[in-house]
Amino acid sequence: MQNILLVEDSNMFGKIAKKKIEKVFNVPVYWAKSFAEAEKLLKMGAGSFSMALLDVNLPDAPHGEVIDRVVKEGISSLVFTSNVSDDVRNLVWSKKVADYILKEDPNSLEYIVIAMQQLEQNHENLILVVDDSTTYRTMLSDLLYIRKYRVINASNGEGGLDILDRYPEIKLVITDYNMPGMDGVRFCQKIREKRKSDQLAIIGASSEDDLSLGARFLKSGADDFIVKGSFLVEEFYSRVQRCLKQIDLFQQIRDAAIRDFLTGMYNRRYFFEAGTELISQCELEGSQLYCVIIDIDNFKSVNDTYGHDIGDIVIKQVAQAMQELSEEEDIVARIGGEEFCILGPIASVDDGLEQCERLRQHIATMPMIIDDGSGESLKVSISVGVCFSFGGNLDDLIKKADECLCRAKQNGRNRVEFVRDMP
Ligand code: GH3
Ligand code: MG
Ligand code: MG
Repeated sequence: MQNILLVEDSNMFGKIAKKKIEKVFNVPVYWAKSFAEAEKLLKMGAGSFSMALLDVNLPDAPHGEVIDRVVKEGISSLVFTSNVSDDVRNLVWSKKVADYILKEDPNSLEYIVIAMQQLEQNHENLILVVDDSTTYRTMLSDLLYIRKYRVINASNGEGGLDILDRYPEIKLVITDYNMPGMDGVRFCQKIREKRKSDQLAIIGASSEDDLSLGARFLKSGADDFIVKGSFLVEEFYSRVQRCLKQIDLFQQIRDAAIRDFLTGMYNRRYFFEAGTELISQCELEGSQLYCVIIDIDNFKSVNDTYGHDIGDIVIKQVAQAMQELSEEEDIVARIGGEEFCILGPIASVDDGLEQCERLRQHIATMPMIIDDGSGESLKVSISVGVCFSFGGNLDDLIKKADECLCRAKQNGRNRVEFVRDMP
């Protein structure tokens, strides 16, 4: 997040809002108390504001003029209002703001923080808008941009499918019904052949007065439906947010099943599943691989000396270093208490050994930060067992790497031992 622009004439509210936001987000808040001051700040800091918090009524701009001025700069804006009559809501949404917050609500500051966090998170979401009408495509995309979502467009289903193939990170598709070529319902069915509803959400949209369309969309794999032209902006945003949230929840469930709770690394179960696949792939390509087992040395004494909580912190830091130093194709997992496994393709035995040696040295020299306020740090080392191979059975590779690990422990710890399991 960059600089924040706050425009608020109330001294008290402005002061506490500025303080709270600076504390939570650790970014500077530039505070203007009038339209004129806001104008000056905008000119001075052109292009540097990532978000704005705006009061609708200012002494020198009583009808929300400041909103028009700031939104014109392309700055995502949250607006404070004192009431939520239909008139005010219509006024606020017509000005293309991201959201509004009731100033009088005792929790308003909390809501501001949540809304700002939400906007920041939205930027991580990529949405595909498919519509043959340029007007609607632009209208929907603009609404999404206001909320800081990232958006890609397509003008027909075929183009949409092509984009989905190229951008696997797309989480939501909003599609029109009536399009040349494949219609929106057929497009939904085609999408579902590739991406299940736990990976991608779909909102169907149509301007047609056909009551059955919603049902047809939903039955063909869409998660929601809107009637173009007659939905409220607020409702549209809620539906988009709900669909994305659903995808995130599915992702969290998937992660919980394959990741270790303490370190966030892959767990034993995932390691065996994905590892077996990786070995098959290496066999197919004829590439070399290594299976590495890593165990923290004398870890029991870390627990005995500093306590189990500090032990956990050390495990996390070792895990993080391991992930940072590993290659992208490597599967890195925590397979036991203070035991880890890496499986990955390598260019040569020498390369693989260099990689292990680098990790061993890095961990042996890095101070582990003990977050108990004492400012103290401690050091640990790891022993590493490696089995180089061109394929085979994962259990066998692990067994052989484990024998090397035992040798590393016997030979004094803080060292790498290896074996070549090759013809
Ligand atoms: P060696 O060099 O031979 O590996 O000695 P070691 O002390 O590391 O090995 P040992 O197997 O005797 O002890 C491992 C210790 O790791 C014992 C166990 O309590 C601790 N441990 C296992 N999992 C966790 C964990 O999640 N958190 C913490 N804090 N400790 C753990
Ligand atoms: Mg159309
Ligand atoms: Mg150990």
